[in-house]
Amino acid sequence: MHRRNGYARRTVAMVCAVAVVAGCSSDAGVRSGPSADSRAGTLPTSTAAPGSSTTTPDGQPSTTVVPPTVPTPAADGVGDELFPSLGFTGIDVQHYDVVLSYDPSADTIAGSVAIDLQATAPLEVFSLDAVGLEVERVSIDGTDVAFEVGRDALVVQPIRPLNVGESAQVEVLYNAAPNAGAGVVGIPNGWFHSTGGSYVLNEPDGARTWMPCNDHPSDKATFTFDLTVPAGMAAVANGDFVSHDSSSAGERWVWAEAEPMATYLILLLTGDYVVSEATTSGGLPLINVTLSGDEDLLDEYVRITDEQLAFFEPFFGPYPLDRYGLAITDSFGGLAMETQGRSLFSRDDMVGQQGYIEHLLLAHELAHQWYGNAVTPARWIDIWLNESFATYAQWMWLEHVGFGTVDEFALDALRARVLGATGRPAAGDMFSFSTYDGGATVLHALRITVGDDAFFELLRGWVQDHIGQSKSTLDFIAFAQQVTGTDLAAFFDDWLFSENKPDDFP
Ligand SMILES: [Zn+2]
Repeated sequence: MHRRNGYARRTVAMVCAVAVVAGCSSDAGVRSGPSADSRAGTLPTSTAAPGSSTTTPDGQPSTTVVPPTVPTPAADGVGDELFPSLGFTGIDVQHYDVVLSYDPSADTIAGSVAIDLQATAPLEVFSLDAVGLEVERVSIDGTDVAFEVGRDALVVQPIRPLNVGESAQVEVLYNAAPNAGAGVVGIPNGWFHSTGGSYVLNEPDGARTWMPCNDHPSDKATFTFDLTVPAGMAAVANGDFVSHDSSSAGERWVWAEAEPMATYLILLLTGDYVVSEATTSGGLPLINVTLSGDEDLLDEYVRITDEQLAFFEPFFGPYPLDRYGLAITDSFGGLAMETQGRSLFSRDDMVGQQGYIEHLLLAHELAHQWYGNAVTPARWIDIWLNESFATYAQWMWLEHVGFGTVDEFALDALRARVLGATGRPAAGDMFSFSTYDGGATVLHALRITVGDDAFFELLRGWVQDHIGQSKSTLDFIAFAQQVTGTDLAAFFDDWLFSENKPDDFP
């Protein structure tokens, strides 16, 4: 994500100060930390017993078996320091099959999500992240099972415990009327309404407000999206375009993301969009999306993207995914997102900006496809592994096209002296200047310390050796020491973990 913060050379507005979202609610809630009952919650529960049905297909009450009490999972989240309740330790999701119908005029989602998962621990119960969803039914391998809806989780009880290594398909039928809400980090996320449609911004924990999922970057999976919208509308998600057909039910658009993806990187747009295909001069397929009437915007941005790919690849290695593209929507300005394989931009940020902002945003979100998307943070406290690298890449590109030098950008950031401990942010600071520009100063100091050759060998190797995985800051430090053959413990203590960075570069 690129968050416009108090950039030293060209200050622009803070996004969270201007992000006013119609109908914004606080449904997402603010978690106070791990607790045994935070996943089962205190909301009225909606529980169905195996084989029973609480309503008939026409909505009339039917005979209901008294449901068993679903026990709360022993584990609470995957142990993320910043978001203790996110994710579930005992499952590894392989694939999500997301089927949604969305009508902007009714503003409701009818959905089903089929989740192919593997148990990584013996499971009597397990949970999925879910906030504000009205769950109708949960099945495992086609058989209805007991479930309980809590404040921020859907707790599921298999008919018999799952063994370690056992695979299962969990299907959740649900309805939702999602509204983006202010998340823990103070930036609204989730499902946003736009003119005649919608878009999502999920980082870090918004996906769970519109679909049940293991909403943590440590669990990447492939996805299919089967989206139905009213006649005349388009629906766009990540990955390859599979099909589009029209029927009396509306327009059905199917997309498939074959590369492992974290839930926070989901792209989902509905509205009056035009989808177009192109190929870069290097042969990379592009699928671009603009609002109807904005198609002419693409020519210049695709040209810049083409040049950026050619510029970055010698430094970062081959583009790591199977495709790329630009999606330009009418979101609130000041926020761009590296949605996997097709970055999302606000048209307000891109139109009439005299080059600088377009170059900055296009470079930043493209670089994230290597740093964040191909290799993803294992925990949210590792967010600098995303934003430092994207910011450093942005500096490199801005230098390349004559907007300044990397040395100048780095010195400006270091002299801002508001950097803090880049490697240990609090949840509310994860998208701060310390993470972005502060983190980029860490990389600049590392480059000076180990030399250009070792530095870029490290950047290329980090992606090449860990593509498709989620890795931590400690993994990066160990890898950096291995690649450079240098003891960097004191370096990272000084630059990454101390509250005050050194006064000057090495
Ligand atoms: Zn970013």
